[in-house]
Amino acid sequence: MAVQVDKYLSIVSELKNQNVTLVAVSKTKPVEDIKALYELGQRDFGENYVQELVDKQSVLPEDIRWHFIGHLQSNKVKYIAPFVYLIHGVDSLKLLKEINKQAEKYGRFIHCLLQAYIAKEETKFGMDEAEIMEVVQSIPSLPNIHVAGFMGMASFTEDDTIIRQEFQHLKKLQDRFFPDGILSMGMSSDFQIAIQEGSTMIRIGSLLFGARQKKS
Ligand SMILES: *Cc1c(COP(=O)(O)O)cnc(C)c1O
Repeated sequence: MAVQVDKYLSIVSELKNQNVTLVAVSKTKPVEDIKALYELGQRDFGENYVQELVDKQSVLPEDIRWHFIGHLQSNKVKYIAPFVYLIHGVDSLKLLKEINKQAEKYGRFIHCLLQAYIAKEETKFGMDEAEIMEVVQSIPSLPNIHVAGFMGMASFTEDDTIIRQEFQHLKKLQDRFFPDGILSMGMSSDFQIAIQEGSTMIRIGSLLFGARQKKS
């Protein structure tokens, strides 16, 4: 399926006047699709896989802000540290320290979001409050990163009440630790609820690029 230009333009106009940034999630989609949205003015793109991100970054315009939104392993930070703008899913102090180390090596400053565990599902990644406290206390000793706030994913459910409660929980954490920062919550299926509950950054894939093939 091709890029959904009309959908893109309607989301962009919906976000106008609201303080919400759209990250176009282009994982598994070809470079041509990214270029199509780039031509329309989109600059924030999100990817989940390190190798795929590195390959795409090398052939696309320099002024794209690349967001890493997948589960990042410490030993792979070095591959994206030279160019990544914002890493959404930081879920351990070990990972945060490695990002700081690699950012320093490349003379860079990398923005990060902490992934909080908000869903009832056990398969989702994220830190609990004790881990969050530990990480927050370490931030002043890591000069090459900027921890701007939280990222979270709601449960995969049709029940909007559950999704809303999970987003409200994340917003409370955000207000407590990073009141003026970035709150990354909301995907294709739930971004309207996320914005109502205070999201400042939504990550939209399938609505913009069409459904994805399952990775084999
Ligand atoms: C794939 C992905 C998205 C986008 O999902 P859609 O449902 O296609 O909008 C957003 N956030 C994360 C963390 C993802 O892995």
